[in-house]
Amino acid sequence: MMKKSDYKFWFVVGSQFLYGEETLKQVDEDSIIITDGLNKSGVLPCEIIYKGTVKTSKGAEDIIKEANYDGTCAGIITFCHTFSPSKMWINALESLQKPWLHFHTQFNKSIPNEEIDMDYMNLHQGAHGDREHGFIGARLRKPRKVIMGHWSDGDIQKRIGKWMNVALGVAFSKELKVMRFGDNMREVAVTEGDKVEAQRKFGWEVNTWPVGALAEEIEAVTDEEVEAKMAEYKELYTIATDDIESIRYQAREEVAIKKMLDKEDCAAFCNTFQDLYGMKQLPGLATQNLMGHGIGYGGEGDWKTAALNAVMKFMGEKSVFMEDYTYDLENGISLGAHMLEVCPSVAADKPQIEVHHLGIGDREPPARLTFEGKAGKAIVASLIDMGGRMRLIVQDIECVKPTQTMPNLPVARVMWKPEPNLQTGAECWILAGGAHHTVLSYDIDAEMMRDFARIFDIEFIHIDKDTTPESLEKELIVSDLVWKLKG
Ligand code: MN
Repeated sequence: MMKKSDYKFWFVVGSQFLYGEETLKQVDEDSIIITDGLNKSGVLPCEIIYKGTVKTSKGAEDIIKEANYDGTCAGIITFCHTFSPSKMWINALESLQKPWLHFHTQFNKSIPNEEIDMDYMNLHQGAHGDREHGFIGARLRKPRKVIMGHWSDGDIQKRIGKWMNVALGVAFSKELKVMRFGDNMREVAVTEGDKVEAQRKFGWEVNTWPVGALAEEIEAVTDEEVEAKMAEYKELYTIATDDIESIRYQAREEVAIKKMLDKEDCAAFCNTFQDLYGMKQLPGLATQNLMGHGIGYGGEGDWKTAALNAVMKFMGEKSVFMEDYTYDLENGISLGAHMLEVCPSVAADKPQIEVHHLGIGDREPPARLTFEGKAGKAIVASLIDMGGRMRLIVQDIECVKPTQTMPNLPVARVMWKPEPNLQTGAECWILAGGAHHTVLSYDIDAEMMRDFARIFDIEFIHIDKDTTPESLEKELIVSDLVWKLKG
């Protein structure tokens, strides 16, 4: 898989021959300055390259064709410095297969009172040219992000950076392979789904490998490999158990899983406690440490959440597999955890390695990381298969410092207040069909997930501070009709 820094975004500026060579030369110079300014902002995940000014239909088409076929191009950013008649963009934009940001900006921040004349007006007419450009985007029904503001503005640069991270997630998604060990947990509905549709929409290749093959790989792990992994654990975590053998077995599992993932170029996996054939422990610490290194995971065979987890980790590191477990109704808080598998990237303090009996899974007590999650603004995201289409549900949440120590709960946990509050938030979540498995992220916000859903043309439902069950119910009815027509 490629790294973020391997990708580039292409800045394509719109103009035409009408205003003469002088103007086009100035457009070129200004566009280079804008590109440099954005690249030097320090808030973009990778580089933007200025690809030149479009003056003809053929010129636009050539650039977009090239963008489509260049594997390092993660998206295009357009801006019409002057008026750029939009019929010349039709063929190009019709064929565009990369994420598109229409950056509605202007070279100068203000209007120079003494200097302004008709030449100035012709050169600096983004207000005019970008409306023409916007019309053709709307007319073609092309999914696109529109951001308006001056290119030197820090907040605008941050928004561009966020959109770029989404587009990078899209590029990553199209390359993503998910390794399934066994099938789903028996009888569970929400973790099922249409793998053909998932590949068509997101590009995910989801395939299965035998648990027996993993068991053989675990047995083949050498003592040296276990020692190297143990040294890493000691460095990253506090060991709070005498049962070193249990930790060593998790190290063995982690090395074996990673080898299988690497062999198939997979960046996500899922397994289930109901199929641990030939394994002594459910992977706990093993899975957690893999997630800490950017691998996506879903429990109970939940390949949709595993894939979403990997993609969201690529978009924003602090994005973790999560499960709503139990409520503090008195204080309006949800307690999220999992049997074992919560990623240490969201730990408030250094995680501890502990070994405890696990009531389900019928195996030896597994070593696992325990910690409390950080406080702060976050989201939870759930991807469900509605039959014929995917629905992405996102809820704004506020993670809080746990109010209790819970000495008898030896798992990692995060506590949060959902928007608009626990009661209404849970009612809305359940109305929308949101799963108990989610990806919780501190680094991604709802706007980014909305951009993600728009690019992939999937249904998006956002539960925020203003959502009511009544408004949501109406939205779901309309949405159902729209998606039946679209499907
Ligand atoms: Mn679960």
